[in-house]
Amino acid sequence: MNLHEYQGKSILNRYGVAIPHGIVAYTPDEAVMAAKAIQEITGSNFWVVKAQIHAGGRGKGGGVKLAKSIEDVEKLSKSIIGMNLVTPQTKAEGKKVRKVLIQQDVYYPGPSPTAEFYMSVMLDRNCSKNMVLYSPRGGMDIEQVAEETPDLIFKEYIEPGTGLQAYQARRIAFNLGLSGHAWKSMIGFVQSLYKAYCESDASLFEINPVLKTSDDKILAVDCKVVIDNNALYRHPDILEMRDLEEEDPMEVEAGQFGLNFVKLDGNVGCMVNGAGLAMATMDMIKMSGGEPANFLDVGGTANAKRVEEAFRIILKDPNVKAILVNIFGGIVRCDRVAQGVVDAYHNIGEIHVPIIVRLQGTNAEEGKTLIDQSGLKVHSAILLQEAADLVRKVLH
Ligand code: GDP
Ligand code: MN
Repeated sequence: MNLHEYQGKSILNRYGVAIPHGIVAYTPDEAVMAAKAIQEITGSNFWVVKAQIHAGGRGKGGGVKLAKSIEDVEKLSKSIIGMNLVTPQTKAEGKKVRKVLIQQDVYYPGPSPTAEFYMSVMLDRNCSKNMVLYSPRGGMDIEQVAEETPDLIFKEYIEPGTGLQAYQARRIAFNLGLSGHAWKSMIGFVQSLYKAYCESDASLFEINPVLKTSDDKILAVDCKVVIDNNALYRHPDILEMRDLEEEDPMEVEAGQFGLNFVKLDGNVGCMVNGAGLAMATMDMIKMSGGEPANFLDVGGTANAKRVEEAFRIILKDPNVKAILVNIFGGIVRCDRVAQGVVDAYHNIGEIHVPIIVRLQGTNAEEGKTLIDQSGLKVHSAILLQEAADLVRKVLH
């Protein structure tokens, strides 16, 4: 699950990671009130207005703007709230902005220059360890830094048994070129950030930029957080932060029926039991000249109700030109699944795309017979190759 910047920062704040003062606003009026409240606390006369959407690159897309007066705050909020923000990370049509974060401007002048760093904590699956990935060249062009000067991207691996050690935090602060008070603050920053990551069961905490202010404070200016969905049951407070408006409506609906669904861009809808088989099925579709329209794991109990819901969701996608049902009957019986397909077909009414059903395992033959005798426009198969050939045939 993705979080908004302001939500991620609220977690950081709980762990003692320094963040700029900020308040989220849904309307320009609220934005003005927020700016005044922040001014009272911080004395700041400048603010940034930041679009809150589940996508990065907002600065480049015009979703992060500096306001030099209360009138600016109002004007900028008016233009950003409701806009369709297009960034390098959104689709071409962009994302609608529903709220903004009003934040004190922390790039004020002072005794030393400001500096932007990059820092993220994530799991490196190759070595099964968490790592802190960081760079002294943070900011909006981090992708370019990684591409052109990869030696400026550092990694610190963390032993799961011992956690982040103090000497590692010191090394990070040193590699970022810090000294004195800023060096000390950075050590605390890294340690608190790592704790926030672990205790939230996150798969990513990305802070870009981490700012060294002109008076040597270390602040998380931006924050991207991804929480491991499988751990959400342990974090009711984080689950409450879920913003359904930012998620794909088809995926939200599928989740309500307990279906593991990921929307893709292809033309062949798939319904499979088991994630591994689903991945293999998607490969097979590609090799047959199609493109998967989705990933869909109906789970171990592919009963008639779930099969029907799965069909309904797949059929909502206008790109779908064929549906491939690939079920292995281990615990579930293939004839039951076949009956589910036939029932779903009747309940939904006429289905206008060809359906290929491949059943293998317990009662596969009975299942195939059921489908063949149903009189419906459903092609049945037992071997994977047969199913692949059928996909190729219906697509061409
Ligand atoms: P992103 O583009 O979606 O990653 O959004 P960020 O939160 O990283 O903001 C984009 C850029 O805006 C940052 O890289 C900063 O350079 C700039 N920015 C963020 N906060 C402030 C601020 O308080 N004052 C000023 N002047 N610039 C800021
Ligand atoms: Mn950023």
